[in-house]
Amino acid sequence: MSHKITILAIEDEHSISNLISTILTSNGYKVILAHSGKEGLSLIQSHRPDIVLLDLGLPDIDGLEVLKSLRTWSATPVIIVSARGKEQEKVLALDLGADDYLTKPFGTSELLARIRTALRHSQQFISPDGKGPGEPFVTDGLRIDFDRRQVFVDDEEIRLTQIEYKIVTLLARHVGRVLTYDFIISQIWGPNGTIRDNQLLRVNMANIRRKMEKNPAEPHYIVTEVGVGYRMLDRK
Ligand code: CA
Repeated sequence: MSHKITILAIEDEHSISNLISTILTSNGYKVILAHSGKEGLSLIQSHRPDIVLLDLGLPDIDGLEVLKSLRTWSATPVIIVSARGKEQEKVLALDLGADDYLTKPFGTSELLARIRTALRHSQQFISPDGKGPGEPFVTDGLRIDFDRRQVFVDDEEIRLTQIEYKIVTLLARHVGRVLTYDFIISQIWGPNGTIRDNQLLRVNMANIRRKMEKNPAEPHYIVTEVGVGYRMLDRK
């Protein structure tokens, strides 16, 4: 790659933006910092970053407003940086087009993993990494053969129902990313989700884990993001 990947961090807390800057710079990224929403929006236009890290609690305009405004003209991946316990806010941000979120305080490896995932998903639209839709999905002992609609864990086939298979493949196609409950429900059962569908999703997930996981209480492949949704971990 001829130029460094540029990441814009919109964050008013200097200790956090300094931390982000240190971690990302030492890992080969170019970092631009903005300390307010308006400064952030103007830097996005002038610098066209590859990824935006967006704090939701900003001094001038709400982070969600920044996201809304950005999404009217840009598909740049946005990772929300949010305080612990603000699950509704995270769900709202994901529904408004954020790609993922980090909860403060976050660790180095978590930050880097979220960025790698967001980059991979954004680049798939431009330059598919040679993987056709029919190629199997593989991550640490889990293999999905889309052509044959078969799922294997450690080379042993596991028997999933149609719905369970749909849920697992949906998460696999978005590996590394959190998918909200509402998004999963709309993809599996259609857009007019009801409370009953939430219940159905939970039941299906319990069954999937019972079949796929060695210890369903401590899942290795699909984790619950409490109050938000599910994420298939990227273990490559
Ligand atoms: Ca803040």
